[in-house]
Amino acid sequence: MRVEKFEVKLREYIDAQIPIIYIDSFDDNKMDDMILEVTGSRKVWEWNEMDGLMNRKKVEKGKAVPVHETINGKDDGSVKTLYDVIRDGVRQEELDRKILIVKDIHPYLEDPKLVALLKNACLRIEEGRLETTFIFISPIVSIPKELEKYMVLLQEDFLDEDTIREIICGFLEETNLGSLYGKLLDEIVVAFKGLSKLEIETILALDVSARGKIDRETVRLIVEQKQQMIRKAGILEMIPVSEGMEDIGGLENLKEWLGRKSVILKDMAKAGRYGVELPKGVLIAGVPGCGKSLNAKASAKLFEVPLLKLDMGRLMGKYVGESETNLRQAISLAEAISPCVLWVDELEKAFAGIGGTGGGAEVTTRLFGQFLTWMQEKKSAVFVVATANDIMKLPPELMRKGRFDEIFYVKLPTAAERKKIFEIHIKKRRPDDLNKVDVNRLVSESNGYSGADIEGVVKDGIENAYVKGKPCVDTSDILGAIRATHSLNEVMKDDIAKLEKEYKERKFKCASRDK
Ligand code: ATP
Repeated sequence: MRVEKFEVKLREYIDAQIPIIYIDSFDDNKMDDMILEVTGSRKVWEWNEMDGLMNRKKVEKGKAVPVHETINGKDDGSVKTLYDVIRDGVRQEELDRKILIVKDIHPYLEDPKLVALLKNACLRIEEGRLETTFIFISPIVSIPKELEKYMVLLQEDFLDEDTIREIICGFLEETNLGSLYGKLLDEIVVAFKGLSKLEIETILALDVSARGKIDRETVRLIVEQKQQMIRKAGILEMIPVSEGMEDIGGLENLKEWLGRKSVILKDMAKAGRYGVELPKGVLIAGVPGCGKSLNAKASAKLFEVPLLKLDMGRLMGKYVGESETNLRQAISLAEAISPCVLWVDELEKAFAGIGGTGGGAEVTTRLFGQFLTWMQEKKSAVFVVATANDIMKLPPELMRKGRFDEIFYVKLPTAAERKKIFEIHIKKRRPDDLNKVDVNRLVSESNGYSGADIEGVVKDGIENAYVKGKPCVDTSDILGAIRATHSLNEVMKDDIAKLEKEYKERKFKCASRDK
């Protein structure tokens, strides 16, 4: 069980007398149990907003005993007690040989006074004048720069599939609900990946109290809960996927390549036995509105896995180490949920400013390094689809072998591709009108239009026909819309020409078959 790894690390850090152990968790009860077990005979105090200062190892009537007799009996139930405990506890050595757990300290770490008190305590611990371990438990990580060198961050490991299976079977046994076997159990286990024991048990209990059973419907509930959880974490977004490969006009080379990867991803064990390596991912670069995002979505549908979107902008935190922690968390969440597609949108924006000086640029450079290392060493079934408009802004390291399996560029659609794109969008909205439209005519009038432009003129054409009260849409409606708009190529001619030249020079693969 992976939880053991966490316990081992916690014990090691306490033994090594690390002054502050910051545990990134919202499962206070689980952490309490673990700390009490690991700390053996050492005295453990705890401060939390609700109960003030408590002696965790002295329990009467099932409740920890308040520490009134020490620290001058100053517990007035406010955060001031925490400050007093740290100041007086250190001065009067009452904190010596003790562990002080502090719950949800993150808002107070913005106060320089508390930071100074803690720093002072850490210095004494480092000098060997005090033997105290502070354990902070909080779901929000904020590490003030002054305390960085005295602190380690400990994150809960995600549960592996065997452990999740044990939890589900244990729950079923306790509630006398019989057993689950085979494919359904496997599906539920996979759906629960990325959740904690507490969350798994809560969802199961909710479902049982609402419907009295655990079945296929439970999987839907889990996915919903997981989406909520991912939303709450705020770094990854779970994107519902409706578009498939059939919704993409053209880009045949890219579609064929993704099709090959899907054969591997759908039976990784078999592919592995055969000696095939697990795919890492693809970088799709090129002109805006030409299907990059569409491909990210359609690949998740093709692989039959969830799509997670990583917003690099949201990773940036205001505390030292926060951005790196966020990226680590996003990566481990994606790995826990794997197999999945991790879509990193606008990659060039995420890593703009690399190599520069100043706080922001340094953080970006560190994040970039972290991302590269992960891509290089990745062994999990997280298939990365990174999309970028301007590859010239991307650092060259990203394009080296070993990071992405392949780099494709998408350009403005060719005539044959435009034909397919028109057909897709007309069929989607007015299937019966497709044979009333001369698509070849539209194609010849739309040179330089992107896929998004084409979708736009189809929408406008349909709207025009409706407003005029026409019973169906014909060629003239869409032609009118084409003539009323400017193509992407007209708007961005120079930029597009420059990009295409760059892609060709770098010998990236073209996503379209016909050049
Ligand atoms: P950006 O760089 O601006 O994010 P993008 O290349 O990711 O652009 P998409 O978001 O994939 O562009 O495309 C926008 C919309 O245009 C899509 O939702 C889709 O409806 C339409 N579209 C673009 N390319 C195609 C295509 N090849 N086939 C069908 N529809 C397309």
